Amino acid sequence: MLDYVDDLRPGLGIHVGGSRRPSEDAAAFRVVDPATGNLITLVADGSAADARSAVDAAAAAFPGWAGTAPRARSEVLHQAFELMLAEIDELAALIAWENGKSLSDARAEVRYAAEFFRWFAEEAVRPDGAYGVSPAGGSRTVVTSRPVGVAALVTPWNFPAAMATRKIGPALAAGCTVVLKPAAETPLTALAVARILDQAGAPAGVVNVVPTSRPADVVTTWLEDPRVRKLSFTGSTGVGKHLLAQAADRVVNSSMELGGNAPFVVAADADIEAAVAGAMIAKFRNGGQACTAANRFYVHEAVHDVFVAAFGAAVEALAVGPGLDAGTAVGPMISDRAVRTITGLVDDALAAGATVAHRSAAPADAGHFYPPTVLVDVPADAPLLREEIFGPVAPVVTWRDEDELLRQVNDTEHGLAAYVFSGDLRWALKLAERIDAGMVGVNRGVVSDPAAPFGGVRESGLGREGAREGIRAFCETQYFSVDWA
Ligand code: NAD
Repeated sequence: MLDYVDDLRPGLGIHVGGSRRPSEDAAAFRVVDPATGNLITLVADGSAADARSAVDAAAAAFPGWAGTAPRARSEVLHQAFELMLAEIDELAALIAWENGKSLSDARAEVRYAAEFFRWFAEEAVRPDGAYGVSPAGGSRTVVTSRPVGVAALVTPWNFPAAMATRKIGPALAAGCTVVLKPAAETPLTALAVARILDQAGAPAGVVNVVPTSRPADVVTTWLEDPRVRKLSFTGSTGVGKHLLAQAADRVVNSSMELGGNAPFVVAADADIEAAVAGAMIAKFRNGGQACTAANRFYVHEAVHDVFVAAFGAAVEALAVGPGLDAGTAVGPMISDRAVRTITGLVDDALAAGATVAHRSAAPADAGHFYPPTVLVDVPADAPLLREEIFGPVAPVVTWRDEDELLRQVNDTEHGLAAYVFSGDLRWALKLAERIDAGMVGVNRGVVSDPAAPFGGVRESGLGREGAREGIRAFCETQYFSVDWA
């Protein structure tokens, strides 16, 4: 693993215009292993000047890249897909090291991340367009789409590869060039992805990465630069609102993938084994640190006890430890602060009458670990049910009446994902239609799919990533009105 980071060493800097260098003010920041707190490496700490030079490179590369044949852009993305899979072992270990997730979750992330390159390699050669006849017949309308321009991409630490490729893939397919700011916790994966894109043939300046511990300096510089025409952000709702307000100043086209508070509904006629399997994925993938993570479980009173017993047995069997250890199912949380936030939410719920029904063991000596936990009897107004837990804690609530269930399910300012388990597909779909969420897993604990439009309603975001929608987010519509007299 160290060899792979060593190979990246020239890339442990500002990746601009096809080459890597230290930051302009020679500052560096620490990247640490969340399983031990030990230093992994120092990384160049991008400044406002570095942010500007990244836009210089992206703006210089834009006309050439936008004018490239779609097939040529597609081939670069396809090659990047192949290279990511060829390096899956090294990439997965790097993700597990800097993010903490288990190797199996990290391998799944690499495959998922690479799929965005393949999907958008295929979409790149299918540009939108239309030809129309005006109602009076006096003109013809030719509708086309063109790349929006230099795109600023800002990504979180929880899926350091996939959140980058979900934006870079469609941006490059559309003909945009990009400047990317990864989260300070996980810059190494983004640098590895940039190196892969270079190797895949992306011309210098098409993909630029500015790691930094000073996110506001870098992103503000981008949003103030008139050459930047797109902001694509994934992260917390609070930071997203702040950046949206900044982007409004220059009316920058903005896409927002923000926080969630997903309900997980189990009906009386659900297949309990399938519901438990779905709950394990929806709750414990990535240690619960996913925007789509099931945040609150609503289980019909008729099956509550049997569901909690089976779910609890599966939770108690989870192996918690360093992500890089073979056999680990749940790794550490990203930081000590994250552990304190989760502890606070659980302690509040316990003080208000909730009880711990099941809990697994977790290392206590070093690292930011929190034991996977199932809570029952959680009061309806507990912050645990209202805030994004972002950790391996499953609060279970019983339900009886469908209208009251829906009221509680929709009683949130978020609306990203939801899950419904029932033996009656029509009932499940009818319920799903009444849930205010962008994505509903029906008898499935996963909604993420490069071929499906990922995104939320309300304060969970604006726009969609993946699918056909993903590429449109990086395009502007233009039409030609042609005289036909
Ligand atoms: P975060 O909002 O703290 O950080 C996200 C990114 O914004 C990071 O790159 C960070 O450095 C940057 N940032 C932070 N403050 C900034 C500022 N003032 N100016 C400019 N940039 C700034 O979120 P996080 O803790 O990295 O990620 C967890 C959050 O992301 C959760 O809320 C989760 O639900 C959300 N998320 C959403 C999706 C989705 O697709 N909807 C996917 C993954 C994560």
